[in-house]
Amino acid sequence: MKIRIYPKSLLEAVWQQDKLLFTPEAEQPPLCLRCGQPLNRRLMVNALSRYADVHICEACGMDEALRDANHCPLPLEEWAAVKNGLAEDLPDCEEVLLTTVCSFENLFQQGSRPASEVAYSRSDYDGWKWWTTWHQCQKDKPVLEAAREIDAFQNALFELPELQNLDTLARLCRCHAQPTSDPTEFNLFSETAYFHIWLRLITRHQDYNVYVHYYLKD
Ligand SMILES: [Zn+2]
Repeated sequence: MKIRIYPKSLLEAVWQQDKLLFTPEAEQPPLCLRCGQPLNRRLMVNALSRYADVHICEACGMDEALRDANHCPLPLEEWAAVKNGLAEDLPDCEEVLLTTVCSFENLFQQGSRPASEVAYSRSDYDGWKWWTTWHQCQKDKPVLEAAREIDAFQNALFELPELQNLDTLARLCRCHAQPTSDPTEFNLFSETAYFHIWLRLITRHQDYNVYVHYYLKD
């Protein structure tokens, strides 16, 4: 299983195509994915984004730097390329996406502990490595394939460079996660064949930092 962060992965896929136009100058430069204005013809005059592995225009590079200093980056969902429907061109791949949009909010109508929750994991980072404990929420163990999917998701999640340590996690939260009313808590959502998945991310030191809740689909 491969997990991608949406829409970061999408922007990077588009950029892989766009950057081919620079040889090293582009006759018809592609549009800045962030603001929609044309990039400079010369690749090197443009700026490397701090939030995705793509080049953006000089003005956007300055804006990112300013916003970064104020800890209020422009969410990738607000980038021109995403707002202009790039998302619809998403190849339907087998990759599992982490997104800021919860497609299963109805589950929480019965309360914060939906009956379909099979298990959750709780992980903390001690400065060297992650420590994880598991909590089974139902009497019966999930069927083997579903259990395997939990394992695969969990392994792929902690292989992400964004989950290397607490600093990278905090950066992921700032740039790519859904904020909450608590500035140290964030959400991300995902979906696999068997599960809806809620990631609750907490950037406080000496606390639990990653909760992964697995809700069995109907
Ligand atoms: Zn721009």
